[in-house]
Amino acid sequence: MTNRNGCLICGQDLKYSEDYHKYSCYYCQQRISANATCVNNHFVCDQCHSMSGTELIETFCNNSLSFNPVEMANEIMESEKIKMHGPEHHFLVPAVLISAYCNLVNDPGKKTKIGIAKKRYIFPLSKRSVLRKKSLMWTSNGQK
Ligand SMILES: [Zn+2]
Ligand SMILES: [Zn+2]
Repeated sequence: MTNRNGCLICGQDLKYSEDYHKYSCYYCQQRISANATCVNNHFVCDQCHSMSGTELIETFCNNSLSFNPVEMANEIMESEKIKMHGPEHHFLVPAVLISAYCNLVNDPGKKTKIGIAKKRYIFPLSKRSVLRKKSLMWTSNGQK
């Protein structure tokens, strides 16, 4: 199903041209000179190509101008970096909601707010393992 050499977004074949043109990256919107897009004209820059799922969500939401969080979530989930049932969905939902809201009300604090959502997503994962260790200690003490 995953096509290594194909488009990151739709999986279709890439087409190469002799000349370089400026393309907008699908995720970060940067305009970059390149000679390859997919047959559906998607372009992803090298930087976004090497990002993790979480970084991709953050980059996309920071740069999107959309008012539609469902559309944004669907576009992000097209990427093979977002795994089926993967934990990054817990960041994806607040990120698209914050981005769409901030785009709508023209809130300049969008990147900061998405950054806070990312921290909240990453932090409980580490905290949870600490809590688990504590509860194990408590159980072993309780048995004595
Ligand atoms: Zn494509
Ligand atoms: Zn990019």
